[in-house]
Amino acid sequence: MIPNIQDRIVYNSPVIEIDYSGEQVIVKTSGNKIYEADKILVTVPLTILQNSFINFTPSLPDEKLDALTLVEMPDGLKVFIEFSERFYPDIVMFDDLLQASINSNHTYYNAAFGKDSKRNVLALFAVVQPATRYTSLQTEEAIFNKVMGELDAIFDGKASQYYVKHIIQNWSQEPFIQGSYSHYDDYDALDILAQPIDNKVFFAGEAYSSESQATVHGAAETAYQMIERMLKA
Ligand SMILES: Cc1cc2nc3c(=O)[nH]c(=O)nc-3n(C[C@H](O)[C@H](O)[C@H](O)COP(=O)(O)OP(=O)(O)OC[C@H]3O[C@@H](n4cnc5c(N)ncnc54)[C@H](O)[C@@H]3O)c2cc1C
Repeated sequence: MIPNIQDRIVYNSPVIEIDYSGEQVIVKTSGNKIYEADKILVTVPLTILQNSFINFTPSLPDEKLDALTLVEMPDGLKVFIEFSERFYPDIVMFDDLLQASINSNHTYYNAAFGKDSKRNVLALFAVVQPATRYTSLQTEEAIFNKVMGELDAIFDGKASQYYVKHIIQNWSQEPFIQGSYSHYDDYDALDILAQPIDNKVFFAGEAYSSESQATVHGAAETAYQMIERMLKA
């Protein structure tokens, strides 16, 4: 997809205002750049709408604002650590077996599994409450020390012994993400949030996918569906 649209992507330009009061939708970025369009597709994470980072004129409808209070985007984190030796199994889970087979929120896994690589890379995946144990720490150094402490305890000091380098992806701290992915208590809220406004402002992203929420393919699917709807409407 990207090569076809690369020259039309504008980076480092957060949208701060969307005015859909007139015939054209007017979008303003933090650099005061103005864009006009017949219709727009908003694909920001829910946190950005919940925190009112974007100022809508008129304001978002009340039922959307209410629905935004019924969904959460809890913490999310990945840490990738390269080691000089492979001392770990393909997967280490902390939930009981039944829960882990359905949906594990806290897992160490062999990130090179099935990949064309001879490097030893172990990854930590954590979302929701297990992630908060790491993301609530103040610094990346503190997160890293906690992870290495856990691994050393499990693998008898081998993590420190064979450590090469690491990367931390703290999605909770990313200013334009602020969490993992949407968690709904009430799926009626999803239907409300997915509704376009005035046939001008449309929404897409994982949070609006009724079948594959919380995934990349769910996000892509909602974009296809919404663009089709925008073109037909
Ligand atoms: C730890 C972790 C592991 C995951 N593992 C998987 C997995 O294995 N498989 C899978 O399918 N999914 C996985 N996911 C979920 C997946 O990453 C998301 O569901 C997906 O990225 C959501 O896509 P999206 O387009 O809805 O939102 P995002 O990918 O969050 O994209 C939103 C974009 O909007 C931009 N933005 C925000 N505010 C503004 C603004 N004001 N103006 C302009 N742009 C703005 C952001 O910078 C971002 O680029 C994982 C997520 C986490 C956190």
